[in-house]
Order: sequence, then C-alpha cells, then structure tokens
Amino acid sequence: MSAANAALARATRLKDEFLASMSHELRTPLTGILAFAQALQKQIYGPLTEKQLNSLKSIEDSGKHLLELINDILDLSKIEAGMMELEIGLVSAEEICQASLRLIKQMAQAKRQDVAYRLSPLDLRLLADNRRLKQMLVNLLSNAVKFTPEGGSLGLEVEGDSRQEAVRFTVWDTGVGIAGEDMPRLFQSFVQLDSRLSRRYAGTGLGLALVRRMAELHGGGVAVESEVGKGSRFTIALPWNLPPRIDPADRLAQRGAPRSAGGDHPMRLVKLAQARRPRLLLAEDTETTITLLSDYLEAEGYELIVARSGSEAIQKAREVSPDLILMDVQMPGMDGLETMQRIRQESALAATPMIALTALAMPGDRERCLAAGANDYLTKPVNLEGLAQTIRGKLPAPEEGV
Ligand code: MN
Repeated sequence: MSAANAALARATRLKDEFLASMSHELRTPLTGILAFAQALQKQIYGPLTEKQLNSLKSIEDSGKHLLELINDILDLSKIEAGMMELEIGLVSAEEICQASLRLIKQMAQAKRQDVAYRLSPLDLRLLADNRRLKQMLVNLLSNAVKFTPEGGSLGLEVEGDSRQEAVRFTVWDTGVGIAGEDMPRLFQSFVQLDSRLSRRYAGTGLGLALVRRMAELHGGGVAVESEVGKGSRFTIALPWNLPPRIDPADRLAQRGAPRSAGGDHPMRLVKLAQARRPRLLLAEDTETTITLLSDYLEAEGYELIVARSGSEAIQKAREVSPDLILMDVQMPGMDGLETMQRIRQESALAATPMIALTALAMPGDRERCLAAGANDYLTKPVNLEGLAQTIRGKLPAPEEGV
C-alpha cells in the first residue's frame, strides 16, 4: 500500500514537472511569434501593404488565442492534479471588481456596451485568492461582452449575504442566452455549445470549467440562470464567514497538510473521551472544503471520516458504517451521483442518510441528486449553520461538551 502511494506521489510530481516545463517550452517560441508579429505591424522593418498588415494581425490574434489556451490548460491540469494552491488573504471586493472591470472596458467600449456595477456593502472584504478571484470575474465578464450584441448592456453585482454566510458575484448579460438542454455541458472542459457560435465567438472552451473549479477550490460554487434570447446570469458564491472557534490563520496554515492528532485542540480530546459521537463520512475532493467542513463539524461534536474520491467513499462506507454521508457531487473519476447510486445498492447502507453537496446550482440538480439516492441536497458554499441543522434533522443530537 505504501509502495503504491509512493509510486502515485512520484507520478504526480512528474506530471507537475512536465506541465511546468511544457508551459515554458510552449510559451517561449510563442512570445517570439507575438513580438515579431507586433513589430512588423508597427512597420519598424519597413512599410507594408494592407493585405500584409491584415495577415500579421491574424498571426497575432491566433498567437494570443493559443497563449490563452496554453494558460487555461495548465491551470486546469494543475487543479485536476490537486496542484493549484490558493494564496488566500483578506481582499477588498471593490478593488478586485474595479481591476476586473478595467480589463474588459476596452472590449465593451468597442461594442458600445453599457457596463453596470453594484456592490453592497461598499466595504465588503472576504478571504480569497486575489489573483484567482479576478481571473474568475474577468472570465465571466469577457463572456458577457462576447455574447451580448453591440449596444447591449451587462453588469457585475456583488452582494454580501450574512445570513447565508456567502458573498455572491453575479455577472449578467443581455446576450444570446443558453438553452436548458445545454446547461449540463456548460461547465465541461473544451465544450463550446454550438459549433456555429464557437466560430462567431472565439474562446478556449475552458473558461467556465476553470471558473467552476476555482470557485470549488475556494469552498464555493457557481450557479447559472439563463433564457434564450434574453441573457444569462452567472453567480459565483464564495463562503464569507468563518466557522466559530477556529482562528482563520490556523485554519489556512493547515490547509492541505495532513491532520495530526498532535495538533488537536484540548477541547477535542475531551470530546473523544465521551461516548461514541455520531460518525459522518465526508466524500469531497477539495482540500479547502474538507478542512472547513471537518473543523466545523468536529467542533460541533461529530466524528469525521474523509474520503477524497467516489471509490474511496464506497470503501470507507463499508468499513466504518457511518451514521450519515455528506457527498460532494462534482468529483473527478466517479462523481457523487454514481457514488450515491452504488452506495444505495449495498444492503448494509441502503438506509444511511445521505446529503448531496453541489457547487454548481443548475435546474434539475435537486431531482438528479434525489434520484441517485440522496435524502437531501445543499448548494455550496455550504451555510455551516444550515448544514448542522440538516444533519441534526437526520440524526440524534450529538452529546454536549463538558
Ligand atoms: Mn468537488
């Protein structure tokens, strides 16, 4: 087993090194192509004809597109390999929004579009990765510009919701909209909804997949509402408040690190000595969410068993017979829906309560989760208080601490 783990760790490291060197190898010649295409267009090597200038513009545009594609593939591979580390800090929503809006301003002006912006409260701050949050917003905003016709309007609305413990960044447009049957494919890698549209609207087809995965890394999710011909609203929801009794610096410092018994708070040791606490199995592939949920639920008096994939969840469910299962829906390999279906087929687990957690709120999600065997369904970012209530509703209450 440990030999297999070592081999896996080695393979992962090699993949990481490969990606890093591939990134460098691809970017270096591209930089040369772009620089010379630009220099030639400035006619510093002599005057050019209209046709020659147009050809150079095409070389430059294609080169830029290729560079975006390389960057997106690398980001996505890093996330899928679990290698993307967020640099979480306290960030100002106003600064991030203004910086993101500046980046799409020219594109929107060229199409004479009206860009609205609203933020509430004005001094909203949250824990997030500054650069990645900006990347998510710019991604959604450039889509909004791209899919909204000339002279149309779009906007960014940010709202801190203290009751739901979430900050919601909504990018809306008055563009072509998305048909209901296309929604499930929307956040998949390399999917563009319409081959005709993809020719009209250039893009890497990776942007939304990246937005989704980055929101998940933050412990949040993405929701979409859309009407064909009227427009779309994409909402990134990120957790706002921190769980009680946990120092944010502590929580972030241990992010991704293995949890050791030595690092446990004395409070937990007291609780361990008590009668058996209700046992929860958490199936989740994102470390930030694992840390957040297990810290909170352990503090609430539950015993947490973590599985980082669908197959691990099935195996651990058999081994430990949990009192309740929390199931992330979006996981690489076997997703949460298939995992729940398989768990339901095991006679010993047929009646175990399961709560599905999804980072992607889409029409029909609830029905799909319930059909797969879930007893309940919550969207990320999970409102911790609401989650605890839902769990309590399905279990006897945990014993109080001393
Ligand atoms: Mn996930």
